[in-house]
Amino acid sequence: MIVYLPELYEDELFYSWVARYFCHVGYNAYVYAIEDWFRVRTIRPDMEYVSELNPEAHAVISKKISIQELIQNHSMFPLARFAEPARLQNAFHEMSKQRGNPHNLLPIPADSRKRTLRYCPLCTQEDREKYGETYWHRSAQIPQVNICARHGCGLVSTDIDIKGQQKPRLYIADIEIEEIEPELICDERELQFARYQHAVFHKPVDLRNDISVSDFLRSKLEGTEYLSVRGQQKNISRMFHDMMKYYDWKKESGITEIHQLQKCFTGHRYSFHDICQIAYFLNIPAEELTAPKLPEQTQTERFNRRVADLSASGLGCYRIAKQVHVSPTTALKANRNKQHKEHNYATRTGTTWKDWNSLDQQLYPLVREKCKRMYGEGDARPRCVRQKSVERELGLPIKRLNYLPKCKAEVLKYRETQEQYWARELVWAYRQLTEEEMETCGFTRLLRLTNMRKADIAACMPFLSMFCNEDEKTSIEQIVRPYLDEIRL
Ligand SMILES: [Zn+2]
Repeated sequence: MIVYLPELYEDELFYSWVARYFCHVGYNAYVYAIEDWFRVRTIRPDMEYVSELNPEAHAVISKKISIQELIQNHSMFPLARFAEPARLQNAFHEMSKQRGNPHNLLPIPADSRKRTLRYCPLCTQEDREKYGETYWHRSAQIPQVNICARHGCGLVSTDIDIKGQQKPRLYIADIEIEEIEPELICDERELQFARYQHAVFHKPVDLRNDISVSDFLRSKLEGTEYLSVRGQQKNISRMFHDMMKYYDWKKESGITEIHQLQKCFTGHRYSFHDICQIAYFLNIPAEELTAPKLPEQTQTERFNRRVADLSASGLGCYRIAKQVHVSPTTALKANRNKQHKEHNYATRTGTTWKDWNSLDQQLYPLVREKCKRMYGEGDARPRCVRQKSVERELGLPIKRLNYLPKCKAEVLKYRETQEQYWARELVWAYRQLTEEEMETCGFTRLLRLTNMRKADIAACMPFLSMFCNEDEKTSIEQIVRPYLDEIRL
């Protein structure tokens, strides 16, 4: 049972509050304090979120502050603010009912780097002067922000691991933090960007806003050089190039690859730092980023309307294109007023039933003839008879023969391995050349005529006798053998 509640300071982590409680009450073991607050007495209180309280603690705390407020103003919840709205709402709902693990509920990208509790030496000094003690500030724990936005000095890392699995323990800020000289950061750009992220972090998360950050960022590309005139094509590589130049002072990670930038626009990436990096680059004020609104009409809609108006006034597509500075094709596309027909679910459309049997009978002679011709007649070069090629040559849809058993059986009659086919082709080539002039049928001419590689010829040799008589076989082997010895070895 909580016997006394210390004052909860501004921007204080909930965890810090519990730690100060332990310190103020003066228990001789952490476990007593943990027992007073949490449902599980062996719990390691979460440093970033609000761990599950016991009913008594819940009742006492609720008199002072609601769980929702604790989550919004005293946990790292705002870091997840750019997640998909429905998921964020659900996570907040579950967390405010004290159900589930916030780390699983919130789509926060796993930070592979070890994160430790940090503090600002000047904030600490101020706290001690004002309250007689210091506490863990949320602002100092925003990943990849290494400056205190208020004082412009470097944040100092402790060696307290935020996600560590050590025993339940409460780290009291006032004991852990020593007084040290602040290190002032002189890079104004880094400070400004830190201030921006600080401002975004501290804006309340509006859970009723349904606009996803990817849609919002896309709308913000309008009017920039990163979106085509019609608003259909994004020039991400150009934007990436400019962005990297803009952030050349940034040594820390964040967006470093083009695909990461792409994913932010498709809604597959929404980490706090990455979104801030894009928004800051695009000059979007923190107020707009945290309460996103979409324009009534997209750039494409406005463009299409303009082209339609010009078209109605009697201009042709070339003159329209000139006026709106696009290619005539784009102007034509924009002016295509044809709307897709609404799908009518009441009537069945799509693939209709076919009488496969009669189709099978009807197509059979065609397929038989086609197969025969492909296999090779007379002087024509033999070909491999395959279902796909027969279908293609007869202009049938792909895999159609699967529905026509008789036709398919005909095709399968010609089934042969690749090596068998090569052997057949080789015999054909040999006959072609010998018919002309006996003495010129050499290895090179065979290769050239068949377009085969030496290895292919070597592979098909065992199958020769299937397609020619003994004399021909011996003759071919005589031509080929000297050249194949190297391969066999
Ligand atoms: Zn500070």
